[in-house]
Order: sequence, then structure tokens, then C-alpha cells
Amino acid sequence: MDQYLKEKIERFKREKGHIIENKWFPRVTSIIEVKAKPGLYKFYAESVSFEEANRKKGLAGSEGSKIHTAIEKILVGEEITIEKELEPSIIAFKEFMKQNEIIADKTYVEKRILSNQFKYTGTFDFIGYVNGKFSVVDIKTSSSIYKDYGLQTSAYLYALNEEGNLYDEGGRFFKKIPKEVESRFILLIRRKRICQKCGGEYIVRAGREPKIENGDPNCEHQFGEIIGEFELKEFSNQSSDFRAFLACKDLWEWENEFYLRQIGYLD
Ligand SMILES: [Zn+2]
Repeated sequence: MDQYLKEKIERFKREKGHIIENKWFPRVTSIIEVKAKPGLYKFYAESVSFEEANRKKGLAGSEGSKIHTAIEKILVGEEITIEKELEPSIIAFKEFMKQNEIIADKTYVEKRILSNQFKYTGTFDFIGYVNGKFSVVDIKTSSSIYKDYGLQTSAYLYALNEEGNLYDEGGRFFKKIPKEVESRFILLIRRKRICQKCGGEYIVRAGREPKIENGDPNCEHQFGEIIGEFELKEFSNQSSDFRAFLACKDLWEWENEFYLRQIGYLD
């Protein structure tokens, strides 16, 4: 095989999957990329250029990963440092912990899962009791909760209940979960400014155009300071979401057949 092709395959493996116990598997988040996201097209179309849109998307992504890192540290009981701008998000997370009954074991934070049956991997944010239900929770810092999140969380829930094995970031077996996971949740953490005149909400996100929800469109808004808020949503249609995830996976495998055969993932 020539060097160029070898590099392309290595790059594909790195970007689209993880090694779990010496074997390569695609990540859930790579697989669901095959499904179009209409909101994202609108975002690209409204941007000055493709490059500019990518730059902004990167800003939102790095903001999201900073918030994730801080929340994971809180869950494992470590001290955090966060830039002033992102403090409202952390306050919102602490408020979520206060208003809900959350029992999170710090060993169940950011671990990898594996489905041997359907050959995929992924990384969940945390597993724990959410108001009495043993659940898997994924944290989002987007501007709202999308139906698409059901695809990702159903894949995690299925894999967790298949064998219940967790793997560390090196893909080594870490431990088994103590019992079946009952449910899945999305925890949305976002920042906003509220108009003091009409109550309209200005959603704040790095690299995104102002998004205003509710309120009076004719108001000359006077937005207050940035505050954080959370929304917790349980996803209930596990079997229908998981069927849709497997449909994405079929399509993703068809699209990437060349690489997947080279890797030996498909025979
Ligand atoms: Zn207003």
C-alpha cells in the first residue's frame, strides 16, 4: 500500500474512531454525522464565508469543551478554574445539582462504552442516579435540545446494557457498571441575557450570531447581564431512537466502505 493511502487511512481511524482493547471501532458521534443538520446549513449560509463559519464553529466547540472539562472536574471532586465569561454556565450546572437529586459516582465520569454486537464505541459524560433513575447523561452547550440527541444517547444506553463494560481513554477495560441503565438524559447548559422591557431572551454563545427567543420583535431590547440556565430532558423513545441510530450506521458504513474495508472493520 502506498504511503499516501496509508496516511489517509490512519487519519480516518484517528478522526472517526477509537481503539478498544487493540481493536478499532467507529465513534457514535462520527456515525451520526451522516445525518444532515438543517440548522447547520442555515448557519453556514448566513456566514460571510465558509472559512469564517468554520472559525466560528471552532469557537463554539472550544467553549463547549471548556465547559465539559470544568463540569467533569466538579463531578470527580476536583478544583476548577474557569474564565470569567463561562462562569454563568458553571453556576447553572451547580443549580442543576441543587434542584435535582443527582448521585454521581466519580468513577462513572467520561468513560468509553463498546457495543460488541453492533461494533461501535463512544464516550459518555456521566452515569448516575437522576431523580431516582440510574441514567446516562450527556451535557450539551448548544442553544437548544435537538431531537438528534436521541440518536447518540440511545447508542450509549444500548451499549451500556449489552455487556456493561466501561473503558478508559486508552481503550483499556476499566470496570463493569453495577446494574442496568434505566434512562438517558440531555443536560443543556446555556447562557442568556434577558430583555428588561419585553422579557425576550438573547442566547449567548461564542462564535454564533445573536439568537433571540420569545419577547416582542418590535421592542428596542435592553438586555441585562449574562446569566446561565440549565434544561434537563429525558429521552423516552429508546427503541425508535436506536433503530434510527442503526439506520445512520448503515448509511455511514456505506459511505465509508472503502476505508472500513481497508481497516478490516467490514469484511
Ligand atoms: Zn425587549
